[in-house]
Amino acid sequence: MNRIATTPPPSPFSTGLRGRCPACGEGHLFRGFLAVKPACDACGQDFSAFDSADGPAFFVMSITGFVVAGTALWMEFTYEPPVWVHALVAGSLAIGLSLALVRPLKGVLAAVQFANKAEQGRFR
Ligand SMILES: [Zn+2]
Repeated sequence: MNRIATTPPPSPFSTGLRGRCPACGEGHLFRGFLAVKPACDACGQDFSAFDSADGPAFFVMSITGFVVAGTALWMEFTYEPPVWVHALVAGSLAIGLSLALVRPLKGVLAAVQFANKAEQGRFR
């Protein structure tokens, strides 16, 4: 059951993008869309210390903003569409990209946190 001691952990990027446990790569990391489970259902790894805070939102905003602004500029200089087309394309692109990116990015940040053994700082 516990494969952590016998095999090296899987890549944090492959497990994070798929929303799997960073320790075993099999159990699910998420309960629902974005809530992290308390522990892995396959290997029992404790997920309670995982806290990606604003990290996923920052990366989602940066990537989505770059793509939406670039698309709007390209559309304007290429086709000069009316403003309602801009609003429709930019709005749906922003919402769609945000929803598509936030879960994989949260998974990757949690997996990287696990791989680097990052935790809350403490005074001794
Ligand atoms: Zn696991």
